[in-house]
Amino acid sequence: MSTLDLSTRTREILSALGAGDPFTDDGALVARSPIDGSELGRLAAQSPDDVAAAVGAAQTAFEAWRVVPAPVRGHLVRELGELLREHKELLGELVSIEAGKIRSEGLGEVQEMIDICEFAVGLSRQLHGLTIASERPGHRMMEQWHPLGVVGVISAFNFPVAVWSWNAALALVAGDAVVWKPSEKTLLTALACQALLDEAARRVGAPAGLASVVVGDAAVGEALVDDPRVPLVSATGSTRMGKLVAPRVAARLGRCLLELGGNNAAIVAPSADLDLAVRGIVFSAVGTAGQRCTSLRRVIVHESVHDELVARLSKAYGTLSIGSPLDAATLVGPLVDDAATDGFLAAVAQAQADGGHLVTGGGRADGVAGGQYVVPAIVDMPAQTDIVKQETFAPLLYVLTYRDLDEAIALHNEVAQGLSSAIFTLDVREAETFTSATGSDCGIANVNIGTSGAEIGGAFGGEKETGGGRESGSDAWKAYMRRTTNTINYSTELPLAQGVEFG
Ligand code: NAD
Repeated sequence: MSTLDLSTRTREILSALGAGDPFTDDGALVARSPIDGSELGRLAAQSPDDVAAAVGAAQTAFEAWRVVPAPVRGHLVRELGELLREHKELLGELVSIEAGKIRSEGLGEVQEMIDICEFAVGLSRQLHGLTIASERPGHRMMEQWHPLGVVGVISAFNFPVAVWSWNAALALVAGDAVVWKPSEKTLLTALACQALLDEAARRVGAPAGLASVVVGDAAVGEALVDDPRVPLVSATGSTRMGKLVAPRVAARLGRCLLELGGNNAAIVAPSADLDLAVRGIVFSAVGTAGQRCTSLRRVIVHESVHDELVARLSKAYGTLSIGSPLDAATLVGPLVDDAATDGFLAAVAQAQADGGHLVTGGGRADGVAGGQYVVPAIVDMPAQTDIVKQETFAPLLYVLTYRDLDEAIALHNEVAQGLSSAIFTLDVREAETFTSATGSDCGIANVNIGTSGAEIGGAFGGEKETGGGRESGSDAWKAYMRRTTNTINYSTELPLAQGVEFG
């Protein structure tokens, strides 16, 4: 598709999704496609005052929404899920145009939104607390989960729509309002999602201002972060961003849910099914051009299978088709911008300077015009040097070698990040050790699958510099609610706890 076609197609999609024509010629925000780096249009940036107004409207809407029964709140999310199902192709295409994901991954991201909507609708009938035995006669204790308030959502470019839906679907059934600040690199998908949610809200008669989007740079994000009417800030992005956001929220004693950078590794043991391992590693390391928080960045392989694994990976890398994400045959699309390419090239050079052997790839891709296309790289490292310990957000895979499992786990856990991890082994002792308390220190620890491509049913998130937050499935919904503990006295006496006598 030519530059002109991309821009025209974007406008068609936005219009079909109900987002109208959001562009203005003198807008300060530039929407670009990583496919060819072209400008798709300009948008007006919003100001901190606009954020304050959105939070104010959300607060008012929250006061009405919190008294709507949770299963009825679920109707809004069910409608959103229906609209997403209806428009999956178009929204998926827009994700490809704006974030550079290959078609299948653009569609997969929308499917993830549909999945979380279904999960949240079921959840709307299960927001239950415990009944707890009281030590006092004629008393009982229970806990209830109540809506929390306005949730501020800050999202990253690489999952421009799914991360918002993880937060919004749960927050809305929990009875909260949502103000979303998307990445400045993926504004259009955000406007499209908001248009679909507005339509869903109109259909079910949800209060105006319940969910809104504010577009702008970090200053707009900071206004959301600092607003005392926002009890929860759910921020997804780099560890750098998390380290800026967390202290600001803490200073006003608000809550943060942080989903930050990863430096994910897979251990390949002597017994590993290498066919499986190669497929799992290639998808995790190269999928989304290495731009997933869960992308595989380190392989820690036993010395006995090192040579065979590296040879097979190198061969598999040689077959990867690199190019426009809109071409059906493409497996590796572009990096998001030139800074990402610079980071990739610099990391490859540093790894080699550290004594690493470049097995394959590592440069710009030839014959692909326009955007930032690179050839996925594998670097065999003599040691886990500083560059290996950093997250380079690109398709760069380091290979490290180990002799015994303790050494492999130590190498695995040596980095500052703690998001996703995997072991390829057919040895049940190794698998169980890896997932045990003394194994992987990550929030996600897999056996015989790669590090990326999580399902929505489990809690998603990681430890250490990944930020500690959990989103999506399991009981992640609790982060979006406040718990009250109630003690009910149905007797005529007033016994005090712990046997205390008073008067
Ligand atoms: P980024 O940190 O540059 O930006 C993320 C968001 O934070 C953007 O919306 C940005 O405008 C906003 N932001 C930046 N500074 C801010 C500030 N001071 N106050 C408020 N908001 C601010 O990240 P990115 O480049 O868009 O995304 C890539 C990073 O995100 C990678 O590190 C990746 O691992 C991480 N990520 C993590 C997860 C996860 O679930 N753990 C998911 C996706 C991406």
